[in-house]
Amino acid sequence: MTLANGRPYLAIPGPSVMPDRVLAAMHRAAPNIYEGKLPEMVETLWPDLRALAGTTQNVALYIANGHGVWEAANMNLFARGDRALVLATGRFGIAWAESVQALGVAVDVLDFGKSNPVDFDRVEAALRADAGYKAVLCTHVDTASTVKTDVTRLRAVMDAVGHSALLAVDAIASFGCDEFHMDASGVDVLVAASQKGLMVPPGIGFVWFSEKARNRCRKSDLRTPYWDWTPRADAAEFWQYWAGTAPTHHLFGLRESLDMLAEETLPAVWNRHAVLARAVWAAFDAWGAGNPDIALNVADAANRGHSVTAARFGAPHATRLREWTEHKAGVTLGIGLGMAAPTDPAYHGFLRVAHMGHVNAHMTLGALAVMEAGMVSLGIPHGAGALAAAARVVGAAA
Ligand SMILES: *Cc1c(COP(=O)(O)O)cnc(C)c1O
Repeated sequence: MTLANGRPYLAIPGPSVMPDRVLAAMHRAAPNIYEGKLPEMVETLWPDLRALAGTTQNVALYIANGHGVWEAANMNLFARGDRALVLATGRFGIAWAESVQALGVAVDVLDFGKSNPVDFDRVEAALRADAGYKAVLCTHVDTASTVKTDVTRLRAVMDAVGHSALLAVDAIASFGCDEFHMDASGVDVLVAASQKGLMVPPGIGFVWFSEKARNRCRKSDLRTPYWDWTPRADAAEFWQYWAGTAPTHHLFGLRESLDMLAEETLPAVWNRHAVLARAVWAAFDAWGAGNPDIALNVADAANRGHSVTAARFGAPHATRLREWTEHKAGVTLGIGLGMAAPTDPAYHGFLRVAHMGHVNAHMTLGALAVMEAGMVSLGIPHGAGALAAAARVVGAAA
């Protein structure tokens, strides 16, 4: 028997749920890319994209996923012989480091493991020991571990040391979900992608960059004409924004998603994600009270992102539960990325629940209820009261 027929819910940390409004905005005939509606509409995107990032500075768009904008940032930031410091709090920090290294840049990685926040004392020591880093790179929220980094504090540490490095932040998992202020936090380069908090299909990548970064990186000799952020940020002709044909339909989808975020207002968007995250955490805490194998991956709530939650579930129960929720109830949960190799039996003890983008209380509470139904059906031991605890979080906030 399955109860999965009905609207499926993809609760993985990207691609996220696409609003019908976004899909409807994309459903149109191919537009003229030389004049008319599309180029006129695109001029309205820039102020909104700056506001969303909390910056008055530069923004460049790419037809790319997250890996693409990592590379865009890398190539503009670095010249041959440069050195970078990467702070890794999970698989995505490591992967960004690998993508920088692959370009021939020397990279030192401070690896804080799979569950821990950045240790700022270690960062300070690394910066004091070496004034040669051109940039410090980190994830705002590492989607694998769901560890959040206090970027404002990181900038304060860099300033206290008097280090001149640029600060580059991957906010792909958190953009439009967790509070972020690029300029106020002293961030020089910020990357995001369309398929997470922005609720648009994968295909647009964003790089915001400060004037300081622009000036400091004029001699970056890794960049090729296609990836150069300068003409994209300062296009004299429409095609230069994209170095060719625009991602026409994605742009109409993006316009709609920015309208939706503006209608809700950014503080309300951030608050919605915070409340839904707390509801998920409350449920896991209650389940874990009856089964020590069940636990949130990040111990301190202050270090958790608000768009996705990673948890331990005890192998093989995480995989069994994911399969149950997808096939029996129409909810697809995230795999435990980077926590163990897929060939390792331990791999089946990790999962993630996304609460990212176009999600509301009934979706998150529904996903939690489905998870509990799966635990009942599969005989996975769990503490009582999780759904009531999640409902109390939502009820108290709304
Ligand atoms: C999703 C994600 C990426 C990778 O994005 P892709 O679109 O899969 O290439 C990188 N960093 C973070 C923090 C992410 O959440």
